[in-house]
Amino acid sequence: MDKAGDPTVEEVLRHISPLTKECRALLEKAYAFAKQAHAGQKRYSGEPYFNHIFAVATLLAEMKMDPVTIAAGFLHDALEDAHLSEEELEREFGKEIVFLVKGVTKLGKLKYRGLERHTESLRKFFIAMAQDFRVLIIKLCDRLHNAKTLEHVPKDKRARIALETIEIHARLADRLGMGKLRSQLEDAAFPHAFPEEYKKVKELLKEQRGASEKEVEKIHRILQKELAAEGIVRMRTESRLKHLYSLWKKLEARKMDITKVYDLVALRVIVESVEDCYRALGIIHRLWRPLPGRIKDYIALPKPNGYRSLHTTIFTGDGGIVEIQIRTEAMHQEAEYGIASHLFYKEEGEGDGRVRPNRNIAWVEQLLDWQKQVSHSGEFLEHLKMDFFKYRVFVFTPKGDVIDLPDESSPIDFAYAIHSDIGDHTSGAKVNGKLVPLDTKLKNGDIVEIETKKNAAPKSKWLEYAKTTVAKRHIRNFLEDHSPLRRLFGERGSAA
Ligand code: MN
Repeated sequence: MDKAGDPTVEEVLRHISPLTKECRALLEKAYAFAKQAHAGQKRYSGEPYFNHIFAVATLLAEMKMDPVTIAAGFLHDALEDAHLSEEELEREFGKEIVFLVKGVTKLGKLKYRGLERHTESLRKFFIAMAQDFRVLIIKLCDRLHNAKTLEHVPKDKRARIALETIEIHARLADRLGMGKLRSQLEDAAFPHAFPEEYKKVKELLKEQRGASEKEVEKIHRILQKELAAEGIVRMRTESRLKHLYSLWKKLEARKMDITKVYDLVALRVIVESVEDCYRALGIIHRLWRPLPGRIKDYIALPKPNGYRSLHTTIFTGDGGIVEIQIRTEAMHQEAEYGIASHLFYKEEGEGDGRVRPNRNIAWVEQLLDWQKQVSHSGEFLEHLKMDFFKYRVFVFTPKGDVIDLPDESSPIDFAYAIHSDIGDHTSGAKVNGKLVPLDTKLKNGDIVEIETKKNAAPKSKWLEYAKTTVAKRHIRNFLEDHSPLRRLFGERGSAA
């Protein structure tokens, strides 16, 4: 804090290394500029508006984003909330920063449930976001701070913002492999989006705490000694409590039985090389009895979002159960920061030098190629056209609602995503104003309109067109309920 009680730019700068002269100059300028631009403005909480700006820039710096992105973080509300002109911003900070700030500003207008009805512009925003993922990362940090301060927002807005945060922002963070940001977004929004469920999960947690801190500490001590005896000297551990929202999701899947959740407490063991990961796993299993069926090798078989680690769950011997996650430093950074780590983290501490950023994800590979081109040409924006939409498509209702579907989805999936009734009565579909067959594959940004008729009904052929489980389930249920056999013999299942 400085004399006036404002946070100082040094608090952001200390996260940056190497801190060049140019970088310092840029961020000092952006800091001063933003402070001036938002002078006198207040948040709902009564705090100076600049505190929000500062929090966003700090998050970006902690994630090791590049200085230009951090500067854009300082300026992200300058166009909209401080009413600065684009020209002025461009004169002071150049085209790249203006592009990012504009992207974030426009993205701010995006509403999940179509409260605003500017379909065309929505479409543009999504495409702008796809062109430069940094816009999205700034937006996610912006949303995180807003979600964390939701208790100050008027009550009628709170639930919608919280739900949006879980439905859109956290999911996007997850898709980009940004595990830390995802769980922060979810946990900030959870109590406001689902107050009852939040209360319940808190209560359940009181009864079942998993292994105690003491037990985890003891495991850490034993592990450190035993690993060192085997020549694994460079290791560190981190323990984490399960995030409340993900715990809730898991409890739902386990019929609310918290004794079936084994990763309430997890110990992360971070070692130097992949080889050490497997050796550490062997040592751990020699020391503690593992739970059957809980050993997972996400190094050999990474999760779809790129997550890598070895997982095992052990009995501590003192009555507790702890999940242990074993990974290298690079894997740890990837798990926490996802795409940001691929771009901006230098690979460090990889003993054998063989481990590279996970190349199982096509878009990561592409991104890394673009990054290479970028460092040659310096034309970042020209080349960084990220395709994280590879596995999902975002399409729109005529009113501008965003619907997120798996790749290759059809209008049938879209119809069921809106409502099962609409799905069951689909008679035709228009994409971008034109009538199309129901097996059309939807593309990013398509505006889809479903035509319904009272007497229209699902056909078995639809099962071939449907990609989502929701659509398939509804179609199957409908077909079963209306099958000739069913009509003859009455209730479903009685023949079995
Ligand atoms: Mn903001």
